[in-house]
Amino acid sequence: MQVYSGLATSHGIAIGISRKILREPLEIKQTSITPDEITRELQRFEAGVESIILELDELIKLYSHSRDNRDILTTHKMILMDPEFLIRVRTKITKELFTTEHAIQQHFAEVVELFQKMDNEYFAQRSADYKDVSDRLLSHLLNKSSDSLDSIEAGTIIISDTISPSLLSRLIQQNIGGLCLERGTRNSHSSIIARSMNVPMIINVPQVSTEFADGQMMILDGNTGTVILHPDEATLQEYQKKLTQQQHRRDKLQEMLYESAVTSDGHPVILRSNIEIPEEMTAVLDANSDGIGLFRTEFLFMGSNHLPSEQEQYNMYRSIAEQAAPHSVTIRTIDVGGDKLSALLNLDRESNPNLGCRGIRLSFAKEEVFRVQIRAVLRANITGSIKLMFPMISGIGEFRKVKDIIVQCGAELDDRGEPWRMPDLGVMIEVPSAALTADVLAKEVAFMSIGTNDLVQYTLAVDRDNDMVEAYYQTAHPAVLRLIEHTAQQAAAHNIPVAVCGEMAGDPRYLPLLLGLGVTELSVSPSRILTLKQQIRAISYNHWKLVAKEVLSLATARDVEERITKEGSYDSLR
Ligand code: PEP
Ligand code: MG
Repeated sequence: MQVYSGLATSHGIAIGISRKILREPLEIKQTSITPDEITRELQRFEAGVESIILELDELIKLYSHSRDNRDILTTHKMILMDPEFLIRVRTKITKELFTTEHAIQQHFAEVVELFQKMDNEYFAQRSADYKDVSDRLLSHLLNKSSDSLDSIEAGTIIISDTISPSLLSRLIQQNIGGLCLERGTRNSHSSIIARSMNVPMIINVPQVSTEFADGQMMILDGNTGTVILHPDEATLQEYQKKLTQQQHRRDKLQEMLYESAVTSDGHPVILRSNIEIPEEMTAVLDANSDGIGLFRTEFLFMGSNHLPSEQEQYNMYRSIAEQAAPHSVTIRTIDVGGDKLSALLNLDRESNPNLGCRGIRLSFAKEEVFRVQIRAVLRANITGSIKLMFPMISGIGEFRKVKDIIVQCGAELDDRGEPWRMPDLGVMIEVPSAALTADVLAKEVAFMSIGTNDLVQYTLAVDRDNDMVEAYYQTAHPAVLRLIEHTAQQAAAHNIPVAVCGEMAGDPRYLPLLLGLGVTELSVSPSRILTLKQQIRAISYNHWKLVAKEVLSLATARDVEERITKEGSYDSLR
């Protein structure tokens, strides 16, 4: 039995068999042929490509309900059908007398090398796709059991170096038990998705590539960040007991389902869900939350090979609004850029992407893409339950510009004779300048939603995705708390709601403090709703108002953490 420790970014316990998805090169023994073998090799190549295309067609049918999976598989099929790929491999066989396997391996190695030189997330993701296709084809030709991702069984524990959000969404569809990764960060989008889908995830386990292999019995303890390989009988029994208790706690939490989120002294709190992909609606409905406080629509633009049309977006927004009814759905316009690059928008490489053309800035730069999304939202809001908000707003000027575009979009729909309705318009407060001018914003917007993930990043000048500076990413820093308090005060003065939709809202250590600072709504991963409701029902709002006041005068994040910890332990609520 070996025990390792990492950082748990999604809680819960998983016991299962490991599956390593680090790509290891397949061994190709024979690399060259004689001229009389050319015809046979070409036939092997054509037959191999054809059978993988058939296999992919079957899978595309199987995943017809899941757009993410379908799009990834379609991209793989397109890679195999690319005339340049076919010509280059054939040339390597006929001119350079390579075996089919060697020709394929060389071709993909060249493509991947080219992509990796480009050093951005999209191209890294593309090289993962190429590697996947290459492995699939080579495994087939070498008669190796298919190492494709589709054969992963429910309950499997995935071990890998890192994981992209689109690959993770695909694995979650296959009901994996958990993930153990070599690298990652707490607030990356993959961590957020894992939390939202209740899949335990542990990152920063450096031994993954050297000491972990396929088919090992493993335990992930997402409550402590412990990873156990080859557990002995006693440990296995202990964790099986914990797993049963976890299930029992989850069953017990169901009692909270129809309770209201009101503090012990009668202060009501609105608890909404964050979603990234439409598949999460099931979890939202199961949690019985007050609708959706943040729908991160950029996921519709990622991992896909085409930009979603107005009609496609309309169908999606309408369906989500109908499912969430009678509650509202807050749609956030695309927030691509920064860590969420999309080649579909032809983004240029920037030396400092988090401070570059992202969020609303990108929407202004790609105004037609923005207008398509706005028109889809205006049409889908025919029932009036959609709210619309904008990311990375730095001040009122940008909000006014957005409003002008929306009015023009409404006029375009009138010209087309299309029915539509104006949604409530709000802004995300995630740039310090927006928080500091919340008084100005609050006069003109219908609501504000504080994105603490970015607010911490921009206030403390610390990259939220860089594990080397993770210690500087201090959610409880007094500067962050003061910006939250100022925003909440201004919202109250202008009689508009103020939410927190960053990860801070779902953290039981900070939730009472946020209420004490004057936040009226919380939007969290659906998997957190019932636990937080239980916590809200146990705390006193008036008491936390006093604690918040005290905390605002403290000097460091550590002082704040210590003060909060005096109020009690939060472990059982994680
Ligand atoms: C945030 O910044 O807190 C937020 C909710 O947005 P995202 O995590 O998508 O950047
Ligand atoms: Mg943000």
